[in-house]
Amino acid sequence: MQLRNLLRKIESYNKNADFELIRKAYEFADKYHKNLKRASGEPYIQHPLNVAFILAEFKMDTESIVAALLHDTVEDTPASLEEIEKEFGKEIRELVDGLTKLNQIKSKEIRDAESIRKLFLATSSDIRVVIIKLADKLHNMRTLEYLSEERRKTIAESTLEIYAPLASRLGMYAVKAELEDLAFKMLHPDIYETFLKKFSNTKKERENDIKKIKNIIEKKLEEQKIPARIFGRPKHIYSLYKKMIQKKRTFEEIYDLVGLRIITDNVKHCYEILGIIHNEWTPIPKEFSDYIAMPKQNRYQSLHTAVMALNQPVEFQIRTEEMDKVAEEGVAAHWKYKGLEIKDKSFDKKLLWLRELLRIKKEKLPTQEFNDFLKTDLFGDEIYVFTPKSEVIALPKGSTPIDFAYAIHTDLGDRCTGAIVNGRIVSLRHELKHGDIVKILAQKEPKPKMDWLKIVKTTKAISKIRKFFREHEKILVSKPKKTEAIKEEISKSLFIVDNMAYKTKIAQCCNPLPANKVVAYLNGRIYTVHNENCSSLDSKDKSKIKPCSWNNIKNFELTLNILVKERIGVLADIINTIASTETSILKAVAKKPVKERAQIMITINFEDLEHLKEIISRIQKLMGVISIGLEPKF
Ligand code: MN
Repeated sequence: MQLRNLLRKIESYNKNADFELIRKAYEFADKYHKNLKRASGEPYIQHPLNVAFILAEFKMDTESIVAALLHDTVEDTPASLEEIEKEFGKEIRELVDGLTKLNQIKSKEIRDAESIRKLFLATSSDIRVVIIKLADKLHNMRTLEYLSEERRKTIAESTLEIYAPLASRLGMYAVKAELEDLAFKMLHPDIYETFLKKFSNTKKERENDIKKIKNIIEKKLEEQKIPARIFGRPKHIYSLYKKMIQKKRTFEEIYDLVGLRIITDNVKHCYEILGIIHNEWTPIPKEFSDYIAMPKQNRYQSLHTAVMALNQPVEFQIRTEEMDKVAEEGVAAHWKYKGLEIKDKSFDKKLLWLRELLRIKKEKLPTQEFNDFLKTDLFGDEIYVFTPKSEVIALPKGSTPIDFAYAIHTDLGDRCTGAIVNGRIVSLRHELKHGDIVKILAQKEPKPKMDWLKIVKTTKAISKIRKFFREHEKILVSKPKKTEAIKEEISKSLFIVDNMAYKTKIAQCCNPLPANKVVAYLNGRIYTVHNENCSSLDSKDKSKIKPCSWNNIKNFELTLNILVKERIGVLADIINTIASTETSILKAVAKKPVKERAQIMITINFEDLEHLKEIISRIQKLMGVISIGLEPKF
């Protein structure tokens, strides 16, 4: 590869690129890498040059190309970031700095590959850093053969675990596919060769089938005047291998799957083409997905379907040109349009996510906001926080220092009293945010609080707190006082009364449901749980009324007592409704109607309170349902 190859490539898509700066970056890198050679024996400069070329194939901007040429200078040579800023400006310094930092994240400390991938995204304040890093990885993978076998295997494994999924997360499917095939070839050369051979042996047959199907569709599209390009979909070896493992099929059952992609000009035509295909052949149930109406997290859009054609399953992907670009190149597709006027407003809308990234880059939003953005768009419901030693702990959104403490160690959870987050003391209720550095404050003796169950998010914290009280209560239960209310194991109690678990009864007067706020009234030795505003409490001894809340209990059995207006099929409707929430029904009894009103008792097992709420709210919407009450299972 020569510099002029790179320049020519860039010129083919961006006549306004800063060729002067690119040439200067090449000379700078060449000077610093002068005496270095790659494992292959070629001069080191070939590596940054090739990485820059890969980015030119993505039609990336001048800054990305320059940063790619310089990406290894700070780490491997005496060149400094200050020098880079002086010669190439602040923006390029930041890109190179980002790349150098990424190389310092060592997978040794973080065992979970998903955490590393997310950390990559969280620590790169400019998404171009990750794109350049992927190009760097791609070139290294292409030239892996000169390394020792052991090194090769380690690199191939980290590629499959970290880089290929990262490319997929950014929607760069072409990069993902190539990285996977290169890694797979390295890890299982025998299987790779066999696949390749079998694949090419049946190529003719497959191509004939594709041709026939293509002709049929093309004719229909012509009749309806829908413009489209149709082609056989490239299948990569690693995806076939994965399918084989996942679906427990032999190679022969998988390899001859025919896939076609249809690219058209607008969304309306996508759906029309889908209609034509479903009309022509029988669709295979459950194989249809509408990623146009519901794009994937990385903004991938396409219609997917499979039909039986020529006695075999044929897969289709239907999308517009723009969707196709985003699908193949993901985030990188964006830079092509930088500086160009975009006339199609709907196209503009579709690229909103990518433009959002650019907006962040331009306005230099504070890291926190960038991280928040990444969190909602790329991380879903997880946050990543750090221990003071920079270990990464993954927690669900909304987690507290208590969750964090239990995630580190049960003992630390039981003893925690507060936390220092980013240098500031916070309460145990504090909601942790992405990127927080958390230090737990603890006392000597374990003293978890029942109240914690209401604020913790992780199942680990919930089960450890419960376990503590189960063991603790055994001691209490062993010497009961006669006047005292009867205690209950926390895992068996639907309510928490005054921070403890007691035996409870649900009041029949007001029928409290999980959506309601409740209080508990001590009646003899058992608490009766009423709605907070139940009028029957007005005349009761106030000192016997205690604060009470629903315990977020898991896998619990109880009976729904449903009063309905009698009509044909009402029991079936209720059972179907409950079944639609994937709930197991243990017992169902309908009592004989009195005055056109029937009582239906159904014992169910629900997963957690949210699940129970969902079941109740669905039943309440059914015609003829008058009331629902909860009772112990019968
Ligand atoms: Mn490199």
